[in-house]
Amino acid sequence: MENVSKFEEPLKRIKHFNEFHTPVSLERQKEQGERCMACGVPFCQNGQIINGMVSGCPLNNLVPETNNLVCGGNWKQAYERLTKTNNFPEFTCRVCPALCEAACTHNLHEEPVETKENERAIIENAFAEGWVAANPPKVRTGKTVAVVGSGPSGLAAAMQLNKRGHLVTVFERSDRVGGLLRYGIPNMKLDKSVIDRRIAIMEEEGITFKTGVNVGKDITAKELTNRFDAVVLACGASNPRDINAEGRDAKGIYFAVDYLSSVTKSLLDSELKDGKAISAKDKNVIVIGGGDTGNDCVGTAIRQGAKSVTQLEMMPMPSEERTAVNPWPEWPRVLKTDYGQQEAIAVFGSDPRVYQTTVKEFIKDKKGCLEKVKLVSLEPKKDEKTGRMKADVR
Ligand SMILES: Cc1cc2nc3c(=O)[nH]c(=O)nc-3n(C[C@H](O)[C@H](O)[C@H](O)COP(=O)(O)OP(=O)(O)OC[C@H]3O[C@@H](n4cnc5c(N)ncnc54)[C@H](O)[C@@H]3O)c2cc1C
Repeated sequence: MENVSKFEEPLKRIKHFNEFHTPVSLERQKEQGERCMACGVPFCQNGQIINGMVSGCPLNNLVPETNNLVCGGNWKQAYERLTKTNNFPEFTCRVCPALCEAACTHNLHEEPVETKENERAIIENAFAEGWVAANPPKVRTGKTVAVVGSGPSGLAAAMQLNKRGHLVTVFERSDRVGGLLRYGIPNMKLDKSVIDRRIAIMEEEGITFKTGVNVGKDITAKELTNRFDAVVLACGASNPRDINAEGRDAKGIYFAVDYLSSVTKSLLDSELKDGKAISAKDKNVIVIGGGDTGNDCVGTAIRQGAKSVTQLEMMPMPSEERTAVNPWPEWPRVLKTDYGQQEAIAVFGSDPRVYQTTVKEFIKDKKGCLEKVKLVSLEPKKDEKTGRMKADVR
């Protein structure tokens, strides 16, 4: 199979905050659809919990059906089939971790079918063809619903309720709609115009969005229940997990979402000209947490011109291949080198991750600014109560 890089080179893409995905050829999309048809029993489309982890698509996307339609060139039908289960394929095709591909039967012994790539082709083609157009309900029920929170769950609830004919108002405390899609996930992973494009259609379909309204403060629960027939709470989980270490009050320590939000807001408000983004320029940056959010912070700090970036992870480095206790089609607990880490390798020459460690103490300079950190080594241990792995100080 032709090996095509789908991403702009790390050293080029760190010069901007735009998406860096390059679409693959139509021929390759069809070829992937054909590979999907070589499957006996598809595990990709059935979101199920195996060994405590989700395997397959949690939305139950009809993966073989859409792939089959792609290989036959039936793009409109593919779009219709995809949107039977997925409200926003344009978001998932950009940011979903592709559980379908992890559970793909081909993934037993070779590369999985590029379903996420095909999903992107289906939805972007549908937008280009004008098939994703406002389709307001023909009949209104006369019922009103308030949705609190405009993240993906609030938006999906609003869309479904509106389709049923209810009049929906979405309340969002932030200045823009989208929740973590807007201000958590960086622009290079999800261009914010993709959210605006969808919101414009939802407005045309009759949904009202009210931003800058903090429900509970600007409007009480009582007022909401008086004014609306039903209320949906889709407020997300915005409380960050803090670290309890000496010197935590040092200046220069930020929660990931505060950092990432400040950068995206400044990007959207002024193309980063207003100077309001928390800046990592010329700084030695420590990211505490080796997961996806940490990776987004690594990629963002590199784009801002950080002097160095180190990412701390509590758990040991995962193996590069599946182990015997983590067989297909379980979600693979293997080493993943994400875009930010690839960029760190390209810029600084080594993987930014340091495993089995965390910060024991933050050391301040005379002005109270963070100057150094004291690290501690950790040892993985099984929690006897929960059976989950945790990390203890060595
Ligand atoms: C940095 C980062 C990167 C991520 N990357 C990915 C990824 O690549 N792929 C992926 O699948 N997932 C990713 N996620 C996770 C994903 O963003 C979340 O799972 C998802 O956004 C949760 O959706 P939600 O609608 O439940 O909540 P949220 O997106 O958090 O939305 C909740 C909304 O409710 C609003 N709200 C809360 N209280 C009130 C109130 N009282 N009044 C009015 N409004 C209120 C909030 O302002 C917010 O806008 C990432 C998360 C983070 C933090």
